[in-house]
Amino acid sequence: MNNKVPVLWNNESDCCGCSACAAVCPAGAIDYKQNNSGFFFPEINNDKCIGCSNCIKICTFKNDKKELNAKTRNIYAAKAKNDILLKSSSGGLFTVLSDYFLQNGGAVISAIYDPDSYEVRSILYDNIEMREKAHGSKYIESNIGGVFIQAVEWLKEHPEKKLMFVGTGCQAAGFRSFISRKKLEDRVLIVDLICNGVPSQKLWKKYAQHVENQQKGKLEYITFKNKRNGWENPGVFGIINNKEVSIRGYSEWFYGQYSLRESCYSCPYTQIDRLSDITIGDYWGVRQYHPEFYNDMGVSLALIHTDTGQFVFNKVSQNLECIEINRDECLQPRLIEPAKKPDTCAQFWKDIDERGIDYCTRKYKEDSTKSLAGKIKKLIKISLKI
Ligand SMILES: Cc1cc2nc3c(=O)[nH]c(=O)nc-3n(C[C@H](O)[C@H](O)[C@H](O)COP(=O)(O)OP(=O)(O)OC[C@H]3O[C@@H](n4cnc5c(N)ncnc54)[C@H](O)[C@@H]3O)c2cc1C
Repeated sequence: MNNKVPVLWNNESDCCGCSACAAVCPAGAIDYKQNNSGFFFPEINNDKCIGCSNCIKICTFKNDKKELNAKTRNIYAAKAKNDILLKSSSGGLFTVLSDYFLQNGGAVISAIYDPDSYEVRSILYDNIEMREKAHGSKYIESNIGGVFIQAVEWLKEHPEKKLMFVGTGCQAAGFRSFISRKKLEDRVLIVDLICNGVPSQKLWKKYAQHVENQQKGKLEYITFKNKRNGWENPGVFGIINNKEVSIRGYSEWFYGQYSLRESCYSCPYTQIDRLSDITIGDYWGVRQYHPEFYNDMGVSLALIHTDTGQFVFNKVSQNLECIEINRDECLQPRLIEPAKKPDTCAQFWKDIDERGIDYCTRKYKEDSTKSLAGKIKKLIKISLKI
């Protein structure tokens, strides 16, 4: 028992669950456990803790909330030239960037969904077959597990190779903090996503099992952004017994911002300037500012923050159509401010526990009077007036 056991977080909004504190702990004293709503939080084992406070020092999330000292270099609208747009959520930038690493013997860390466990996990891999499983935005918190430590081990085992990390803004910030401490930052490209926030794995599992019980089968596949009706009108469905089933209720909670992690409502990475190398997302302003560049199968936004980011972007640009755009033209809600917490958020979680999925599906909806694209356009206009 150690009397100098640090306090990692007081309020749930203090912790983004990136796992850097657990990865850096020399005593292996920090475990990640799910809270009541199912979000991952670190817990210190007092008997193992040696009181070094490395876990406190590495926590970038709390410091970044005070000040993010970063300046974006260049901003591009981009779309992949090959036929990967249909399976990509935006303009396929993740595939083009990961191809560069995998084809040069490197490795990638990104989030993959496992229908058996209902979990999204951040996984390290070095082959295209695994990368094919990583396509698509999963609106579920990804379990980082021990992947930060695996990244260090992999980089040490392969001293001549490079690695790309892809995750949400907070995961990428935690990874940067950890990998810099290990003095390996020169060998990694850190890519973060523009991110609305993440719902918990527990919530998704509860929803998915409810759908499975109703439909009497296993959800073998899910998509939150299918493009068969175009990029701006995403299909949201799962497959059970070769039949499509709706999972729209769950995505309405996500878009309505009821189901997000507490720290998402004060996320410091909802701005243009970041500490990653490249930020990727959807270029929702394309119709408005660059209609000649519009593509119904998706256009990506790439914010280049560092020399490393620019170097890799230049290397892959032969596989992209891209145009440079300015800061005003790239704006969208999550490049301006975090998601707003609805007043009924606490009631939502209570209702999930007490009244169940059907009740919450009826009660908590996104403003369905507007399409996603329409809402984003409106929000861009409002944001520009701030
Ligand atoms: C929870 C979430 C919220 C998002 N919110 C916005 C937004 O508000 N505005 C916006 O412009 N873009 C948002 N995006 C990003 C966007 O949807 C695309 O993921 C991104 O543009 C990459 O698309 P792509 O076509 O390049 O790649 P794709 O081939 O579709 O690859 C998707 C990439 O996202 C990663 N990923 C998927 N799910 C997760 C997850 N749960 N956690 C961590 N990484 C994940 C995959 O590992 C992969 O690297 C969000 C993504 C997620 C996962």
